[in-house]
Amino acid sequence: MSSPHSSLGVRLAQLRERIERACVQAGREPGSVALLPVSKTFPASVLAQALDLGLTRLGENKLQEVRDKQEQLADRNVQWVMIGHLQTNKAKDAARLASEVQSLDRLALAHALDRRLQVEQRSLDVLVQVKTSPEDSKFGLPPDQLPAFMQALRSMDTLRVRGLMTMAVNSPDTDAVRACFAQLRLWRDRLQALGYEQVQGLSMGMSGDFELAIQEGSTEVRVGSALFGARDYA
Ligand SMILES: *Cc1c(COP(=O)(O)O)cnc(C)c1O
Repeated sequence: MSSPHSSLGVRLAQLRERIERACVQAGREPGSVALLPVSKTFPASVLAQALDLGLTRLGENKLQEVRDKQEQLADRNVQWVMIGHLQTNKAKDAARLASEVQSLDRLALAHALDRRLQVEQRSLDVLVQVKTSPEDSKFGLPPDQLPAFMQALRSMDTLRVRGLMTMAVNSPDTDAVRACFAQLRLWRDRLQALGYEQVQGLSMGMSGDFELAIQEGSTEVRVGSALFGARDYA
């Protein structure tokens, strides 16, 4: 069992403190920002420690990895949150394994998920991933396509759109990073004004930039390395 005094427990407490402090500094209610621990690349033994500490939602970016970890943690209650690019032909696995998909970025994927979810007779919380950064390496729907995208999703009853997700530009220029987050919030507000009141969540901010994201209205930060340590992709 992992106690609050284990190194992971200490890092979790320190991270929660930083999130709270950022909320207070931004004049926001501490507790208005949720934490999504991002456990990709870490072994099931580390995830088990996180679960022992009371975390239940875990962010992952590869379905194969979720499948493996799910098997190893079969006796545990985990809500898997997909945050990585999903190929359309993986919709079947996503519909079966994920409790939430934050990387919905195109209609083909939405249709594929909707079809599979109908087969599984379940619904899924989704966030629309928006491209707010010019980098080619970043996925996401171009923001000006959001209204038409939301309109198209209306016919897909299995998908519950809870909000928007983005990755900010990877840059030391904090103004450029902040602009990505501000852009996501602006589009969330526009969608609400168009009548999509359920689109409330703003999943934005990672280990290196979550304080800025909280200043710009983030409701959920996705934190990996600041909690679990540096990732080893070898
Ligand atoms: C890996 C990842 C994160 C977490 O990144 P850290 O810098 O380790 O906090 C957050 N969001 C997405 C989409 C990711 O792929």
